[in-house]
Amino acid sequence: MLLGTLLAAAVMVGVVLWRVDDGIGTERIGFQDADVPLGMPAEGVVDFRFLFADGWREEVIPVALRFDPPMGSEDAGLVYNAQKFWEMNERRGGRHMGDDLNGIGGMNTDLGDPVFAVADGLVLYAGEPSPGWGNLVIAGHRTSDGRVLHSMYGHLQRIDVAVGALVPRGGKVGTVGTANGHYPAHLHFEMRVGTGVDVGAGYSLHPLNRLDPTATVEGLRNAEAEEISASPLALMLAEAADWTTLEIEGAEKLTELE
Ligand SMILES: [Zn+2]
Repeated sequence: MLLGTLLAAAVMVGVVLWRVDDGIGTERIGFQDADVPLGMPAEGVVDFRFLFADGWREEVIPVALRFDPPMGSEDAGLVYNAQKFWEMNERRGGRHMGDDLNGIGGMNTDLGDPVFAVADGLVLYAGEPSPGWGNLVIAGHRTSDGRVLHSMYGHLQRIDVAVGALVPRGGKVGTVGTANGHYPAHLHFEMRVGTGVDVGAGYSLHPLNRLDPTATVEGLRNAEAEEISASPLALMLAEAADWTTLEIEGAEKLTELE
C-alpha cells in the first residue's frame, strides 16, 4: 500500500518534471538571470574581433605627424622585405596581409634586433594570441587628417611595452623573433585602418582592413617637414621623470615642487 502510494507519487512528480522540461518552463530566463553577464566563449579565450578601443582610449591615441619604418635604420636601410604585402602564398591559401622584414644578414642574424614603433602611438594590444603568431603588439595612431591607423608587429621574441602605454616614434616595442621557432627570425609588419583591435590571420583572400604597410609608412613620412629627428613625444617622455619645475621663457619660475 505504502509502496504503491510512493510509486504513484514518483510517477506524478516525474510527469510534472518531464512536462516542465518539455515545455517552456526550464527554457525561460528567470528574473534572477536577466542581468547575469554573458559567459566567456567555450575555450575561455576572448575573441578580439569584438574588442574595440573604447571612447576614452580612442581619444588618447596621439596624433602622429611623421611615420618611420619599424626595423633597421630610420630609412629602412639594413632591411629587406622577404614576402611583400598582397603576395599570393599558395601553401597558406591566401595573400600575405603584411610585409616580412628581415635583417640583410638573412636567417636568424636579426634575432633580437629592436623593433620600433612607426609613429607616436598608443599600445592597444601586447600579448601572444597564438603560438604561430608568437608575441605581438598593436599600436594605434591618429594621422594629421584624423584617421585612426593601427600598426601591428608580429613574431616578436620579446615585448617591451604594455597595453595602454604611449610609445614615441622610434620607441622600442620589442625585438625580432621566430614565433616560438616556427620561422627564421623576421618581423611580420602590418598597417590597418579602423578601430577594431583584431589580431586576425596573416593570410587572406580579402584585403579586409589591411593597407600596404611600406606604402602607407612612406606616404605618411613627412620627413622633410620636420627638422628634428626625435619625436616630440619621445622628448616629453624622456624628460617626464625630471619635471620638478615649470619654467616659461622670459617669465619667472611658476612652480617649484622641491
Ligand atoms: Zn608575414
